[in-house]
Amino acid sequence: MKIAIITERRAFERRVAASPDTIKRMVGMGLEVVAESGAGEGAQFTDDAFTAAGASIAADAATALGSADIVLKVQRPLISEEPERDELRFLKRGTVLIGLLQPLRHPAEIAVYADAGIVAFAIELLPRITRAQAMDALSSQANLAGYKAALEAADEFGRAFPMMMTAAGTIKAARVLVMGAGVAGLQAIATARRLGAIVSATDVRAAAKEQVQSLGASFITIDEAAARSAETAEGYAREMGEDYQRRQRDKIIEALKRTDVVICTALIPGRKAPVLLTEAMLDELAPGSVVVDLAVEAGGNVEGSRLGEIFTTRKGIKIIGHANMPSRIPTDASQLYARNLYNFLALLVDKDGKLKIDTADEIIKATLLTENGAVVNPALAVAAVAEAQVAAS
Ligand code: NAD
Repeated sequence: MKIAIITERRAFERRVAASPDTIKRMVGMGLEVVAESGAGEGAQFTDDAFTAAGASIAADAATALGSADIVLKVQRPLISEEPERDELRFLKRGTVLIGLLQPLRHPAEIAVYADAGIVAFAIELLPRITRAQAMDALSSQANLAGYKAALEAADEFGRAFPMMMTAAGTIKAARVLVMGAGVAGLQAIATARRLGAIVSATDVRAAAKEQVQSLGASFITIDEAAARSAETAEGYAREMGEDYQRRQRDKIIEALKRTDVVICTALIPGRKAPVLLTEAMLDELAPGSVVVDLAVEAGGNVEGSRLGEIFTTRKGIKIIGHANMPSRIPTDASQLYARNLYNFLALLVDKDGKLKIDTADEIIKATLLTENGAVVNPALAVAAVAEAQVAAS
């Protein structure tokens, strides 16, 4: 069976779906790996490193994809009216496609995969169970995004993060507020703390409090009773009501008066990200303050943040809206992502190196989008019903 890896062509993307390490492992499983020439370049993996690991190199994406039984991707493939930009057309019917396919954000594309006879898996739909942890690409990438967000903030901030006592005077430690203390937020807290900042954080989920405190940061509780029911069975946050949001804004306005840097990471799966900082709230920050909006691709936690840009408000506050934060640390992000995909692939391939899709397995069931020309994922059916209800109301 042949596995294909190609260059990721979407904007802001430097990662790649395989590493020399995972290529070696796949070859060890009895699989053949073909990589488009230059596919690893953005992540500093050379063709030579891929070849040494056992891959063959194809001159272009069409050649790599055309002969593949399984395609490993970071971003969803390009589908376009312009033939030269369309990657999907190279895949033969029955090809397995695995990647961050964003089915809830781009449901129409899933129907295109079905029509093309592709067997598509969206790795972000993995259930958060212990057995799936080694495949959890959302977590591996969010962890690095949180780390990088703290570094980007420190870089744009005109002051130092740690307290420094020098002969020329004392520099005060920076005060960092992290909003949303999930995987990315906790790593942003840990990184800002390592840099010497004084860190506080908030989250809707009650479980976050202890995790934040264990990292040496203080926790801002908005509403203890609401926090107890804010977590879904899958471990994600629910969308909070108007009343909670108003109380959250009041509490955060107070905190902003003592804050230099804000890192926002709050997400609700399949929904627009909640707005946590309005334009009026931003005015509470002192000029020179820095805000990172890690949720910018999901609509943004910060009112007015701009995708792919850093801009300064008229009051002198810098808003960082970098797109695809994990891609800004492409080597490690690719290493971890590639390992996640390899671990997932091991579920689909039997000991003789043959494809074996066990649809009774809960990991397969949750991630499989299309099979035999049809959209088969229950999460998409629920999303379609919700969308129809919104449209009808
Ligand atoms: P996420 O990326 O969906 O959201 C980021 C954070 O934003 C979450 O902590 C969420 O509670 C928070 N948030 C949402 N709305 C908010 C609001 N209005 N105000 C403030 N905060 C808000 O979540 P995530 O980081 O992927 O994971 C959430 C939890 O799941 C984490 O605690 C993590 O430890 C847990 N997890 C478990 C597993 C597992 O396998 N068991 C795997 C990964 C993550």
